Amino acid sequence: MKTRVLSGIRPTGMLHLGNYFGAVKGMIQLQDDPDRETLYMVADLHAITTPYDPRVLRADTRSVVMSYLAAGLNPEKSTLFVQSDLAEYHAQLSFYFSSVTSVARMQHLPTYKDKIRQHPDNVTMALLNYPLLMAADILVYKAGLVPVGLDQEPHIEVAREIARKMNAVYGLNFPEPERFATSGEYVPSLSGEGKMSKSVVGSYISVLDDLPTIQKSLARAPTDSGTGVSEDMPVSVKNLLQLVELFQGSQRRQEYEVLYTSSGIRYGDLKKELAQAIYTELEPIQQKYRELEKSSEYVEQVIAQGAGKARQITQQTIDETKQAMGFG
Ligand code: ADP
Repeated sequence: MKTRVLSGIRPTGMLHLGNYFGAVKGMIQLQDDPDRETLYMVADLHAITTPYDPRVLRADTRSVVMSYLAAGLNPEKSTLFVQSDLAEYHAQLSFYFSSVTSVARMQHLPTYKDKIRQHPDNVTMALLNYPLLMAADILVYKAGLVPVGLDQEPHIEVAREIARKMNAVYGLNFPEPERFATSGEYVPSLSGEGKMSKSVVGSYISVLDDLPTIQKSLARAPTDSGTGVSEDMPVSVKNLLQLVELFQGSQRRQEYEVLYTSSGIRYGDLKKELAQAIYTELEPIQQKYRELEKSSEYVEQVIAQGAGKARQITQQTIDETKQAMGFG
């Protein structure tokens, strides 16, 4: 039997290079593997765990679908769907999972602590329940592989714990999912601190940014004098070199590392070359995205077809779980 694969991105603005490398590239790689069955959603139920505007959620959801298609996800190969179209299954399973999960376990997760620091006025039950809903997203499809960035590892661990508990307590057969890591599993922030994130202004480059915007964002990235000993290289410079590696290859990175300990890196040139390399990779995605903007009917058709295919799997998992838990 094929291993099922599940992943998703929250519709909270335009996708950035972190989403593209950490998640979407892995999603595309797995879609082309004949031993996998791939299901990719827009995680709109997760969008309400942080402050959001209901007037733009629907458009942002379509935008993620279009970004998936533009980046190379193919509805003939992958089931592409919107999470809220299957809300009754995802949310239902998440509630069942809450009965085998302690409040303390959720409160101690690093992602939860980060989010309550970012949004101290939005410490909601939805936020606390985020990892439970994510476990339900994965396990309602009995997915064994999850292409997501490194920041999501603690959540995958929660999903494994829940699968083990549900299997032990109720005799169910949930798989213990593993994260599928890509070479860009952790794309650093341009600011030199933490990961690239939609919620941190100045930290990211969006997949729809044009060349001048990319150049401007890179120009703001902090550097140093350009020479020194490798051990003392500042994090901000290491981050730039990581982007060089992702977009221009490891050999180019090594060349810069040698320059750093000899004649020095000229950051103006490095940034110019890097901006061009990033734009060259993004340009075809941007062109396809613009075409899709004119084909809203096609996008709606992809979403409707995806919901139909996803539902064929979810109903069975819910039926089994209810039966095992003594319902009905
Ligand atoms: P954000 O953190 O920007 O709000 P999401 O929470 O919607 O993005 O994450 C969507 C996917 O993108 C997840 O798989 C997540 O691990 C991945 N991702 C987000 N930021 C990064 C990053 N800087 N590097 C690698 N992967 C990332």
